[in-house]
Amino acid sequence: MNSALIDFDAAGGVDLDRLERSLGLRGERVGIGRYRVTGGAHDHWVDLYSASHPRCDCGDHLWRDRICKHIMAALLREGNERVLTTLPRLLARVHAA
Ligand SMILES: [Zn+2]
Repeated sequence: MNSALIDFDAAGGVDLDRLERSLGLRGERVGIGRYRVTGGAHDHWVDLYSASHPRCDCGDHLWRDRICKHIMAALLREGNERVLTTLPRLLARVHAA
């Protein structure tokens, strides 16, 4: 199974600011699609595949329903196509700045 459970378009797509912040986080894989994400102000738990938990326990995801930086950190470690193919757009933005 891959990350088909995440509806990127419904969640506003891959946000470049969140993606940039996700690159500084550390993800420890603790199970299938499950990560403990550290390196931010608080540690968070991400569960990519289980439908019985929220994908992430942070406010950005729970309250705004966005794909937060923690989920992106986990998706990067899963080799998610949608997130990986967004990296060139992030790099282009860095070069343009
Ligand atoms: Zn989160």
